Amino acid sequence: MDTAAITITGCTILPMTGRGEVIEAGHVTVVDGTIVAVDKGAAPAREGETRIDGRGKVLMPGLVNAHTHLYQVLLRAVWEDMPFLDWLERIYGVARVLNPEHAAAGTLLGCLENLKGGVTTVCEHNFLNPGPECAVATVDAMGESGLRGVFARTIMDTGEIVPECTRETPQTAFTRIEDLMARHRVNGAPEAPRRLTFRTGPNTPPINASPDLLREIRRFADHHSIGISAHVAESASVVEVTRRTLDRAGVVEHLKDCGIPGEDAIFAHSVHLSPDEVRHLAETRTAVSHNPVSNMMLGDGIAPVVEMLAAGVRVGLGTDGAASNHGQDLFETMKAASLLQKVKHQDAGVIDPYSVLRMATVDGAAALGLGSVCGTVEAGKRADLILLDVEKPHFQPVNDLVSQLVHCAKATDVDTVVADGEVLMRERRCTRLDEEGVVRRAQAARRDLMERMPAA
Ligand SMILES: [Zn+2]
Repeated sequence: MDTAAITITGCTILPMTGRGEVIEAGHVTVVDGTIVAVDKGAAPAREGETRIDGRGKVLMPGLVNAHTHLYQVLLRAVWEDMPFLDWLERIYGVARVLNPEHAAAGTLLGCLENLKGGVTTVCEHNFLNPGPECAVATVDAMGESGLRGVFARTIMDTGEIVPECTRETPQTAFTRIEDLMARHRVNGAPEAPRRLTFRTGPNTPPINASPDLLREIRRFADHHSIGISAHVAESASVVEVTRRTLDRAGVVEHLKDCGIPGEDAIFAHSVHLSPDEVRHLAETRTAVSHNPVSNMMLGDGIAPVVEMLAAGVRVGLGTDGAASNHGQDLFETMKAASLLQKVKHQDAGVIDPYSVLRMATVDGAAALGLGSVCGTVEAGKRADLILLDVEKPHFQPVNDLVSQLVHCAKATDVDTVVADGEVLMRERRCTRLDEEGVVRRAQAARRDLMERMPAA
């Protein structure tokens, strides 16, 4: 394993630490997984180091995918063009046939796609659990990928469209989550505990989470000092259910009643929020994962990102699962995030590219509680880095590096990926994952999953 010393030289460095400063022809040195030097000029050679030539490349923090469902790569383009709650019912129905091999094979392919697109941290919002085994398989596959991971194991205790097999009492779910965390601590690969953190949460309140569950989740999260992840106000139909059944004006208002918002919580989507709800997120330091491609694909609406940023809400970016995206490309997500706000406000200057790049790096890391660990290129942080080949025709010539990273770069421009000081990809070749094997295994898992799926 490649974790001793790494020096990347001759590259243009975008550390994401200040207002977009760039270091030309610089170097970054990593020792035992930690960044020890970021500077101009050449680096002295170290004995036994891995030396990577970064000429013609941009070095920046690895991207943070703040919300996805990894196994859903098996479900790309299966259900399209349907109303949100009907689509959700199909997704939940997968629980009736999902087995650990589907979860493992899908998660590995999802990790591979994230990794090849420059993502070094992925938040897996896990919500289909017909028994404890699928979560175990997912966590193991995330560990195998080498990526930094947040495993948000959420709970559904109610809801007409939730199959019985994946509905849990709070106590059953909490025991399973405690078992998972204990198992991981005992059996995880030596480097895995450092790379993986856990969260819990309601899945999509209020349609599959009772108020009692919400209060229990807050207690459980506080007791274990783990964060919360939830799908919040993704579609107007969810807000409508909240109004009709709970007499609350919005989902955040309902969550506030049950103590869910907080610095350790990340609310995926947050598309349909009132100005009061946006203020509440800012006041409680609740983070948001903005998932614009998924929101467009499902016809959900456009999240009030400009308003949230103005209010001081911490906003990260996510792809969401491939069942509503249909990929895991965070560069594409950045471009969509930028353009969507320009369209919404009919104002080309309403959002600047550096803010978008922050969402995909430093702000995303902070939103997941990893602000002291990764998200920037600076001494003392763990080495989650990517090198991008910017010599390609669609990127040249460079007039504005930051804008071009948001609006020109593609996932396939990522040349090298380092996560937690380990080189996971070099010159687009993966060092840990057997790419062809992962793809073949996912193809087999997809065939098996489709054969088991009842006709709609
Ligand atoms: Zn989601």
